[in-house]
Amino acid sequence: MQKDLTRLLHDPNLIPSEKQNLLSKIASQAESLGMPCYVVGGFVRDLLLGQPINDLDIVVEGDAIALGKSLVEKYGGKLTPHYKFHTAIWYLPSREAFTLDPSSLDLITARSETYSRPGALPTVKPSTIDDDLLRRDFTINAMAIRLDGDHFGELLDPLDGRSDLEKKTIRVLHPRSFIDDPTRIFRAIRYEQRYSFILHPSSFILVNPESLAVLQALSGERIRHELDLIFDEDNSPQMIVRLGKLDVFKWIHPELPAFNESHSDYLEMDTRLDVPASRITMGFILWLMDLTEAAILSIARRLDFTSDLTHAVWGASQLKKSLPFLVNSAPSVWVYALEKLPLLSIYTVYLVSREKALLDYLSFWRHVKPGTTGNDLKMRGLEPGPRYGEILTALRAAWLDGTIRSNEEEMEMLNRLL
Ligand code: ATP
Repeated sequence: MQKDLTRLLHDPNLIPSEKQNLLSKIASQAESLGMPCYVVGGFVRDLLLGQPINDLDIVVEGDAIALGKSLVEKYGGKLTPHYKFHTAIWYLPSREAFTLDPSSLDLITARSETYSRPGALPTVKPSTIDDDLLRRDFTINAMAIRLDGDHFGELLDPLDGRSDLEKKTIRVLHPRSFIDDPTRIFRAIRYEQRYSFILHPSSFILVNPESLAVLQALSGERIRHELDLIFDEDNSPQMIVRLGKLDVFKWIHPELPAFNESHSDYLEMDTRLDVPASRITMGFILWLMDLTEAAILSIARRLDFTSDLTHAVWGASQLKKSLPFLVNSAPSVWVYALEKLPLLSIYTVYLVSREKALLDYLSFWRHVKPGTTGNDLKMRGLEPGPRYGEILTALRAAWLDGTIRSNEEEMEMLNRLL
């Protein structure tokens, strides 16, 4: 087994060589300080699944801050220690050996966690790697591989996560897991749909009113973070639909609806239109835009939306509701109505309505501007004031609606207006 893992840890298709390099530097530094050093969590899970790893989740038995300091002494970079949590962020030195994305990594001290009450943030205490694995969400995330010295490639798997991986099963570590932290319900569904695994029946029955009720006490920020992670995934529609079927949403906000399955395909953006893309924002727009204005604003408060996100969802909802009144309007009327809305809101409403004017706006109308500028009006002796805006808007509208089609015609119109 150790040999198998050693092979995986050296596979450049799973771990790019610069990350391997970095891991080996950290491991030998930890060894010289007498600290057992491990990669844990998602790293081990994805490695065993034969999938490229993303984050380097590093845990040491010992003082992660001391390890960080000695790495900075030896290799440079910067350290931000968090004494309360016994963790440190190492901002890597910008040398060739460290061309890494992201350019920082977390160094964590193995710890145990206790929950003072359901849904509270845990109290943490430095401890052993075994305790650290016991505080985790699912067996498949509760494995570690040791990296220092002769121990390189040893798997620690106290909860048999490897066999759950083989059985494609998500399983919590103890019956109170979802009560301690109901954000794990979202995480369970995310992994289930991402890997096409099954939430084990013994864990599935723990998604029940007792654990779901704890969601009511959870901060909007924590819940939204989980929803953001979901909308950022390829299979997000399946995840959000599944959460709806488990009746999760009513515990967060009574008006949170089920996700409309027929909207699933829209999450794939067409970037040719030069609309700033965000799967997360688009996910929330598609999910919520058919609600009333009051419900949207109330959910935005509960989930601690940023003002940009609130504006994007609200804007899409207003636009969708006003489409019947705008249909057959002149282009300038459309532009007037659309100009203050986020492009992504307009694009999303286009996807669900296929209203051609929205596409015309995104690809063409929004870029139409008259040749005349404010400066030109000043040169022509116009006193500063609201007339500037009125004249420029009238010229733009004339271009949009086809009443002027050339610079000469624009000049004639300008002369008439002045
Ligand atoms: P991915 O980023 O691919 O979703 P990951 O495993 O890297 O997966 P993170 O959110 O980065 O996920 O968490 C790192 C590890 O921390 C997890 O693998 C898990 O062991 C542990 N963890 C994260 N959130 C929780 C939680 N709410 N309760 C218990 N353990 C958790």
